[in-house]
Amino acid sequence: MKATTHLIFALFLAVVFFKDFLFARTIESFIFIALLIIGATLPDFDIKNTWFKHRGLSHSIFVPIALLFVAYFYLPAYALVVGTLSHGLADALTPMGWKPFTPFKFKIKGPIKTGSLAEILFAAAILFVIFGMVLPI
Ligand SMILES: [Zn+2]
Repeated sequence: MKATTHLIFALFLAVVFFKDFLFARTIESFIFIALLIIGATLPDFDIKNTWFKHRGLSHSIFVPIALLFVAYFYLPAYALVVGTLSHGLADALTPMGWKPFTPFKFKIKGPIKTGSLAEILFAAAILFVIFGMVLPI
């Protein structure tokens, strides 16, 4: 998935699970959004890095689990958990798939090719749902 789609999907999960906190307009809610952006995009640092295999350890479920310990002490760090977890879940929708238990070979795959029209429509649909959840009727 493209970074934009990762951000939209992370925002969707954040709105679902942390809506009140997300829109509290406190320092913590702004930090939460910043950490959400970092968490949703950082796992792909391995794309242009020759030391790490793409969609390897940075995409594993172990990263958000480890971040849960940080979030226990600092609530906005849940954004890193949501961001990194949403990244893996979104990548699971692509044919290249997501191996949540890296280095084990178990893989979840989907039909949406990265950069395709299907990805754009997927992102647009999620945005539509987010607006429906956020905007007053
Ligand atoms: Zn990725």
